[in-house]
Amino acid sequence: MKKVILVTGASSGIGLACANALQEKGHVVYGSTRDLQRMKAVSFRPIELDVTDDTSARTAVEHILKMEGRIDVLVNNAGNCVVGPAYAMPVAMAQKQFEVNFFGIVRMCNTVLPGMIENKKGLIVNMGSLAGLMGLPYQSMYVASKYALEGYTQSLRMELRSTGVKVVILNPGDFNTPITQNREKAPFTMQHPALEKAYYTVIANIEKNEGAAASPAAIGARLCKIVAAKHPAHRYLIGQTGQTIVPLLKQILPGRWFDKLMNDYYGIG
Ligand code: NAP
Repeated sequence: MKKVILVTGASSGIGLACANALQEKGHVVYGSTRDLQRMKAVSFRPIELDVTDDTSARTAVEHILKMEGRIDVLVNNAGNCVVGPAYAMPVAMAQKQFEVNFFGIVRMCNTVLPGMIENKKGLIVNMGSLAGLMGLPYQSMYVASKYALEGYTQSLRMELRSTGVKVVILNPGDFNTPITQNREKAPFTMQHPALEKAYYTVIANIEKNEGAAASPAAIGARLCKIVAAKHPAHRYLIGQTGQTIVPLLKQILPGRWFDKLMNDYYGIG
């Protein structure tokens, strides 16, 4: 059945792949950007939206409701990634990370959910990350924002259990998207050459891993199946098996082995 779907952050990467895939399935897809100039040549319906702004969120949602009468699916994908030393993280950068990755999603849910609850149906898909299931060196604020999203998503699902609205979280591993170029890097300000070297080694390895990762088309294909499912699962881990198995390793390995494994992975073991 044709559904009315809003994908936030559809100008590039995972959001673009998801909006394209859903559009190809025949759904009515609105894909958002903060700058409509960036979405001149897309097949879905571009819509302006800054998830950090109440008025922008309300205006975008009201526009879709006016045009289509309902929103069936909200894909909370918009996000960015901040890196920096956890031991010297500028609080302003940490807050900015949460404004987009966490409060942006809270804001979009607050704006869209009253209509879904009234319609007694709907689907919220939150874009988490494998980083929402484990700590990662020099990515503490990104990790923390995705952990917060885990807790919020589970609570929301429990509250909406009787309403007909379903809530799903996706946990992708590394995918090759412009998140690499868009990443915000806190400056290293301490006089500590060994830690400074570790910080920049981790950044280089993050970028290398993302550059070598798959295109996000697989996430778009999976999302189409989730949207079509009568009973979607609560969570979907998506990515290379070598990465999606890591949350399980975290459960079974002694903590210090797991920390060493992750530091080795990022070249600072
Ligand atoms: P991306 O290519 O940089 O795309 C980010 C999208 O978010 C853009 O379309 C951008 O749109 C939008 N955005 C950023 N700030 C926004 C704001 N304040 N309001 C509205 N939209 C905003 O990155 P991506 O890799 O596709 O990431 C998408 C999501 O997947 C994020 O939540 C990320 O955490 C998650 N994820 C990515 C990976 C990965 O390896 N790539 C892995 C796990 C999870 P405009 O700039 O056009 O407004």
